[in-house]
Parts: sequence; C-alpha cells; structure tokens
Amino acid sequence: MSDSVSGPDRAVEGFRKVFGAEPEGVWAAPGRVNLIGEHTDYNDGFVMPLALPHTCLAAARARTDGVLRLHSGDAPGGVVELRVDELAPVADDAGGDRGGWAAYPAGVVWALRDAGVLTGAAAGGADLHYTSTVPTGAGLSSSAALEVVTASALNELYGLGLEPLRIAQLCQRAENVFVGVPCGIMDQTASACCTDGNALFLDTRELSLRQVPFDLAAEGLRLLVVDTQVKHELGDGAYANRRAACEAGARALGVRALRDVAYERLDAALGTLAGDETLVKRVRHVVTENHRVEEVIERLDAGATRSIGPILTDGHASCRDDFEISCAELDLVVETANAAGALGARMTGGGFGGSAIVLVEEADAESVGKAVTEAFAAAGYRAPRIFPAVPSAGARRLG
Ligand code: ADP
Ligand code: MG
Repeated sequence: MSDSVSGPDRAVEGFRKVFGAEPEGVWAAPGRVNLIGEHTDYNDGFVMPLALPHTCLAAARARTDGVLRLHSGDAPGGVVELRVDELAPVADDAGGDRGGWAAYPAGVVWALRDAGVLTGAAAGGADLHYTSTVPTGAGLSSSAALEVVTASALNELYGLGLEPLRIAQLCQRAENVFVGVPCGIMDQTASACCTDGNALFLDTRELSLRQVPFDLAAEGLRLLVVDTQVKHELGDGAYANRRAACEAGARALGVRALRDVAYERLDAALGTLAGDETLVKRVRHVVTENHRVEEVIERLDAGATRSIGPILTDGHASCRDDFEISCAELDLVVETANAAGALGARMTGGGFGGSAIVLVEEADAESVGKAVTEAFAAAGYRAPRIFPAVPSAGARRLG
C-alpha cells in the first residue's frame, strides 16, 4: 500500500476535525507477520516476527483534567469519552461488553496507571485520534498496533521514559486483563521493538531480543502476505484449548513450560505421554516449532535465506497436523504456492483463517500470487489480498 506510512497529515487532519485543536504529535506503530514460531510465545518459547509497513497512527494531545477522549477513523460510533480514574477491568464472569474497540487504548491507560507509571487523578488524560492501514482481524496484529501506538504517545506526552520492551509488556497486560484476550507477548513486542530491515528473534522467557538482518530485496527474494479474508469462529475457543493442552503437557512432563523439553529428547518425552494422542501432537508441535525457529536463525545468520523455505513449509504441516489450527483456505495457499514454485509457505498468526506467508524468488512473485488467486476462485473462496511483507520499523514518533 503506497499510503501505508505516509499518513501523518491524515492523522493531523482527522484530529483537528474531531477535537477542533492541534495535536502535540503523531506516533506510529506497525502490524506484524510472524516468520516462524507459532503458538510458542505462551510456552516460554522462541518467536521471530517482523514489522510490516502498515501502521496504526495516533495524533494526540495531553489533557490536564483526567478525561480520555478516543476517536478512530476506522471504527463507527464517534468519540468515546472516559475518566482515567474510573478505568477498571471488567471481571471475567461479568460477561457483556468491555467497551468495543476503545477497550484496547483505554486498557493501555489503565495498565500504565495500575503499574504506577502514571499517578494522580488526572494523569493519562488525553485526546487521541487513530487512523490505521493494518488490516483488522487478519492475523496481522492491528490490536497490538493500536495498543503500542497509544502507549508510545502517552510515553512521550507524559515524559514516562519507558523502554520499548516495557511498553510491550504493559500493552500485553492491557489486552490480557482489560480487553480479556489471553495473548502472549509476541505481537506487542514486534510492534514496539522491531527495526527496519530485520526480523526480531525474541526469547519469550528471558525477554531477550536480537535483530536478525532479513534483507529480502538485496537477495532477490520476496515474502508475500496472503490475507485469506476469512476468520473462522472456532478460533477463540481453540486458542484457550491449545493453551490448556500445552500447560497439561508441561505438567505431565514435569517441566515449567514446553520450552524446557529439549528437541533431542523429544521422542523420549512423547513416549511418556503415549496413550494421549492429542497431547502428543500438541507437545510435538511446540517442541519442533521452537527448534525450527533456531534453525531459521542459523540459516539467516549464515546468509542462506533461501534455505529457510522448507522449514516454513514444515512449520505449516506441524500447525495443520499436530496443532490442528489451520483451515482449508490456509492449506490451499501453502499447497498452491509451493506447487507454483515458491520456496516455502506457512500460515502465520493464531490460525483458523487470517494470513499465510509465502517466500518466493522476486521473479516468481507475480505468477505465484496469481496461482493462489486463481485457486481461490476455483474453490469458490473470496479473493485473497496479497502484498509483500517488507521488514519495517517498530513504533516511532512521526511528527
Ligand atoms: P488482529 O489483531 O489480528 O487484527 P484482533 O481481533 O486481535 O485482530 O483485533 C482487532 C480489533 O482491534 C478490532 O476489532 C478493533 O476492535 C481493534 N482495532 C484495531 N485497529 C483499530 C483501529 N484502527 N481503530 C479502531 N479499532 C481498531
Ligand atoms: Mg490481535
């Protein structure tokens, strides 16, 4: 998308129109795709996302009266007005509405206050106007982009001095506790900490980060994102179910988390789970997926980018057969792309719809994309949206 990062003027315009004043600044935070390491972030494992050029922008101005006014050009319903000292998470069993889209930014303000980062009755008050080019609900983390851009804006407006990783942790807490989504730490860390031209290796237990050069253009390669534009209902319940299975697996194996099951000892570990075929499959996915992340890093460090293709495809098979989180549309992307000459492909994100990634030679990008689009038409599916994933910068101030 040509307008994916060139929208600060649009954000300022929108702010003026909604709030009748000048913003103090404009901040950006990106969506992401995960190159490898799926459903490992809640197993203390490894992930390797990269930020997209698609960003959520926030034009913002601090207030001194403790009022939080939120507006999104991408959501219906006008301005949402809240008092920061009244923000509180809804109890899990209360059910009902948690505040719609505004729960994401309101949750961030709550998390900053709850952590004692913002203190006093008025602190955290602000006017915020959002406009985003991150597709929502496509597994590209528009929600993390919305949270991280909010935290980044408040960080500067209130001079909080928060480091990107701390921002990611507070945003995860906002999504877990305030919005009520039990996500891991990957999405927020990608949005806050990624850097231009790199994939981000994140050890989710140690919270250690390494920027891994991933200069696709220089190598004549492209990473395509294929947004299937479907989201199967199954997803939410299945996420909780998979998390529970992983915890059960760790308990049965006597380890703190599945990250602690060594790849070299996987067969022995699975032997002790024999009889529970489902548990065997879930554990095998997480342990082999962690190993795939390490393999991908090794290949990238060695400059052998093309050779990660088959590892991506293996990762897809593991998501499909062992973790059982794929769907017909995602499988069709992977099969078709590989048959049309891609170097490798896999689903990315939580699964049950959303997006897949395809690694291709630049020269083949168009024909592979066309093959996928045609296969979708032949299957009677809605046309997918296909665009290149250019490794981009994490959250930043634009103006
Ligand atoms: P994903 O993060 O994969 O895009 P989620 O379901 O986690 O999907 O988050 C999508 C939700 O985030 C939307 O339904 C909406 O509530 C909120 N959201 C994301 N971007 C925006 C935006 N620009 N304006 C308003 N709400 C947004
Ligand atoms: Mg999300």
